[in-house]
Amino acid sequence: MNVLVLNCGSATVKFQIIATDLERIAGDTDVRLARGVVERVGGEAIITFEAEGRDPRRTTAPVRDTRSAVETVIRWATSESSGIESVKAVADIHAVGHRVVHGGERFTHSVLITDEVLRGIEDCIDLAPLHNPANVRGIQAAREVFGAGLPQVAVFDTAFHQTLPPHAYLYALPYQWYRRHRIRRYGFHGTSHRYVAYRYRKLLGIERAATKVITLHLGNGCSAAAISAGDSVDTSMGLTPLEGLVMGTRSGDVDPAIFDYIGAKEGLTPQEVDSVLNKQSGLLGISGLTNDMRELLDEARESDDRRARLAVEIFCYRVRKYVGAYMAALGGADALVFTGGIGENSPEIRARVCEGQGWMGLELDPARNEAHTDRREGLISADGSRLAVYVIPTDEELLIARDTVRSVHGVPQRF
Ligand code: AMP
Repeated sequence: MNVLVLNCGSATVKFQIIATDLERIAGDTDVRLARGVVERVGGEAIITFEAEGRDPRRTTAPVRDTRSAVETVIRWATSESSGIESVKAVADIHAVGHRVVHGGERFTHSVLITDEVLRGIEDCIDLAPLHNPANVRGIQAAREVFGAGLPQVAVFDTAFHQTLPPHAYLYALPYQWYRRHRIRRYGFHGTSHRYVAYRYRKLLGIERAATKVITLHLGNGCSAAAISAGDSVDTSMGLTPLEGLVMGTRSGDVDPAIFDYIGAKEGLTPQEVDSVLNKQSGLLGISGLTNDMRELLDEARESDDRRARLAVEIFCYRVRKYVGAYMAALGGADALVFTGGIGENSPEIRARVCEGQGWMGLELDPARNEAHTDRREGLISADGSRLAVYVIPTDEELLIARDTVRSVHGVPQRF
């Protein structure tokens, strides 16, 4: 089955085409056929296509809307020049899997998209006003391009965290706010946390029920999850992706009283403060330079920039605090798993997060740590370390493709 995986944002459509089916899932033999991105949808778009094993191709073309972006992708994929042997016509795409950001409390796992499911996703727009509308547009665009008969599946960022117990997902706010408005912690990056927890137990050959780990997704967005018996039992992002760790441009945890205080001091509306906390804070806000960790580390190394160093230190300190908190929440864990652009590629950040944690039995192996970059998967803790540490590159698209196959066949997704 050739699955088109779509991740539709407000002005960006990312895609992959993955050949997979139940047999391939069981044998871990799925094949990635192509990937790419259409950026600046709504204007003169920048389009990058890459068939597996070939050089990426970059072009520009006017792309009016999400539908025209999906059409552009399919036109390329089915063209002779793409070089994708098994995709020659629109009919060679057998299903579409969509990344959907918010599934609220309704969607606890991936689902085949029906009119009712689409209405359910629209009902969650209040909770994710920037993301869910773009996801809905992606689903509608795919319906128009492929016809209503092609199976489409929604895979939610929030679904994996629906196993959080009430003491972890409720805020200490008036309970009516939860009753009336569903204000609670939902968590995000669920597909990533779920995927790396799955890879971890595959690597170790253990059962889902024996999986007790802390997963750290450190990318431009960052979150931590505490996983017990394979289920997410706590996570650092909340009602929105703003809560928790320090991120590229998001503040993570702050005292909510700051909203009112800074609003009065600087004459900002709540919406403006919200925008600063989401878009001008985090690594960018502290350093005043960039939201990009690699650039910050270079800056700190080359020019010893004080605020670049401070941004990195605050970032690592916050991650350490969450690891400590989740060790307590889980009553101890078997492993820490690093993933995301920073977690997968930066030995320096991993070393700094793990520094001084001998008290909980954590000891990194410096040579292993240095050797794990460029999406290399494996163990980076020392042989005697009681808490194992792994780098496991995330692959949300693969999990979306697999969930799409499983949903089409009506097979349970809890693997
Ligand atoms: P993601 O959102 O998962 O793509 O991750 C993006 C983040 O990963 C950015 O902050 C990048 O600077 C960071 N990153 C990628 N490669 C490295 C690296 N070698 N060292 C440090 N950070 C990196």
